[in-house]
Amino acid sequence: MERYKIIDAHCHIYPDKIAEKASESTGNFYSIPMCLDGKISTLLEYGKKAEIDHFIVQSVATTPKQVSSINHFIAESVAESNGKFTGLGTLHPDSEDIKADVDELIGLGLKGVKLHPDIQQFKIDDYRMLKIYELCEGRLPVLIHTGDHRYDYSNPNRMLPILDIYDGLTVIGAHFGGWSIWEEATEKLSKYKNFYVDCSSSLYAITPEKARELIMAYGTKHVLFGTDYPMWEPEAEIERFMQIKLTKKQREDILYNNAAKLFDIE
Ligand SMILES: [Zn+2]
Repeated sequence: MERYKIIDAHCHIYPDKIAEKASESTGNFYSIPMCLDGKISTLLEYGKKAEIDHFIVQSVATTPKQVSSINHFIAESVAESNGKFTGLGTLHPDSEDIKADVDELIGLGLKGVKLHPDIQQFKIDDYRMLKIYELCEGRLPVLIHTGDHRYDYSNPNRMLPILDIYDGLTVIGAHFGGWSIWEEATEKLSKYKNFYVDCSSSLYAITPEKARELIMAYGTKHVLFGTDYPMWEPEAEIERFMQIKLTKKQREDILYNNAAKLFDIE
């Protein structure tokens, strides 16, 4: 197999002592058994086997009071990673001082924000979120979980007004912009210039032909590779990705260049 430079743009990490429990609860939420345990050491071990060069790491606060400690944990993990990690911070719509949270996150050197509507229980177009979008616009790319046939929070339709109003906001919709409702999401969202997607937690459920269709709809400059660690084993995800018929240049963009550009990674 040809050697590609790879950025895994969607990795969840947890402190060792809670990693297994946290991963298990995400697995239960999705009724998908987790492949790995959510520890940093495991990510690095399996990432190395899969020849992944760089990891974009993140964790989601379920209460406002977790925000600062999670952001410090992510920043420390980046500092200890020898240049292997780029960190995304967390924010919470019920925080008393969102501006202070954003300032702290930027001060810690985090390069973007990860949000999860279904787990944090906010609708994408909830008025409580507008301050967050306003503060991130033009400064911090936002990776946001999108799509879940069981919930309304992350409904891709709720993304449309946000992309129209905050047209300087860079949004990356995880799971091709709509987990479990891939086609509907792509139809609605693929026309936005400020909207990108990652292909994480999707390739297990759709054929390589369907994946190619979605990639072409968004455009190969608008798709990032991600494993959703610890959900999937990185090596297996790369194998699935390689089954999609794409040119070498298109693969280089999706596996590395697009994420490098968005998050300013060398
Ligand atoms: Zn995620």
